Amino acid sequence: MTDIAVEITGLKKAFGDLEVLRGIDLTVERGNVVCIIGPSGSGKSTLLRCVNLLEEPTAGKVVVNDVELTDPDADIDKARTGIGMVFQGFNLFSHLNVLNNLTVAQRKVLGRSAAEATGIARRNLERVGLSDKIGAMPAQLSGGQQQRVAIARALSMDPSVMLFDEPTSALDPELVGDVLTVMRQLADEGMTMLVVTHEMQFAREVADRVLFMDGGVVVEEGPAEQVIGTPTQERTKTFLARVL
Ligand code: ADP
Ligand code: MG
Repeated sequence: MTDIAVEITGLKKAFGDLEVLRGIDLTVERGNVVCIIGPSGSGKSTLLRCVNLLEEPTAGKVVVNDVELTDPDADIDKARTGIGMVFQGFNLFSHLNVLNNLTVAQRKVLGRSAAEATGIARRNLERVGLSDKIGAMPAQLSGGQQQRVAIARALSMDPSVMLFDEPTSALDPELVGDVLTVMRQLADEGMTMLVVTHEMQFAREVADRVLFMDGGVVVEEGPAEQVIGTPTQERTKTFLARVL
């Protein structure tokens, strides 16, 4: 593998007449954390969803781990197993306990045995600090715990890239910190991460680079300290004045 984990060039996405992404270029180096910020409706989620082809781009190229996903002949299912995704909603299987949430895709998609999948699940629950919840049902957990289970579930598939779409936006304020701590720890361990977030402090401390999006384009990008601390574009300044 090269040291480029994600390479996006000339990415466009339209829904009917609505042009949501209007030419995005983005390179994520392996082991880096890139945070995407910007107002609601600017295309952040759509961009993230194009990275694993949950949305099919209208134009442009998406390459993840040296596989061009926009190539019609690409094995999308195989490529997707290397890309973990955590959404704003917790998206756990509500009828399965925590252990089974973590093992079902390992067994069905990766063909792991029950014993192997369980061992990997236990390790990842430990990573997110929830070993004691292994038998719990999702409804018995707080939102923050559910989100950490969702992260552990994604990690159990051995992803080489993790996508986070506002993972703390639906949480009560007092539960945000635990989820950010887990994400920070992942970043420290060298995970490649693409994170859509409104947590400016997290972006500032953890991101190698920050992208500010507005109206389907990247308006400004650079080191976190530069984009959040000393933005040069008016649109970035206006946005930051509202959220900081
Ligand atoms: P953000 O995550 O920055 O808030 P989104 O990527 O969710 O922005 O949405 C960007 C724009 O695309 C919005 O105007 C939204 O309504 C529109 N959009 C997103 N998904 C769809 C869809 N499946 N069909 C039609 N319009 C969509
Ligand atoms: Mg969004």
